[in-house]
Amino acid sequence: MLGKLARWLRIFGYDCGLAPERAADSEVLSLAEGRILLTRDKELARLPNALYVPGNTIKSQLSLLYRRYHIRLAITPTRCPLCNGKLVKAETPNGPGWKCTSCGKEYWQGSHWKRIAELAEEVRRE
Ligand SMILES: [Zn+2]
Repeated sequence: MLGKLARWLRIFGYDCGLAPERAADSEVLSLAEGRILLTRDKELARLPNALYVPGNTIKSQLSLLYRRYHIRLAITPTRCPLCNGKLVKAETPNGPGWKCTSCGKEYWQGSHWKRIAELAEEVRRE
């Protein structure tokens, strides 16, 4: 349910696991070990280091995390948005960029980059 938020947090450089949709609580908890658990499950949200994340827009979710944890709202290409693998600098067909060491996906500064930076700036200003 929070898959989109996970992708955004990885774009900002956070090591961010994502539990499968129908994961058992035990699976979620082992994934959350040593991390902050962001959840839409009200039971799990009672745990220490857990936060209930309401809101249906990515902007409202990022805004909540920014106010609560002062998350970094700047593109930081260290984590693959798709799989959370580590990114390394690489030459892509579109110029210098990054490549995921886990799934092989390549990233570069495109128009998408600008839109992400703009939304991050909006969240920061509010
Ligand atoms: Zn990847």
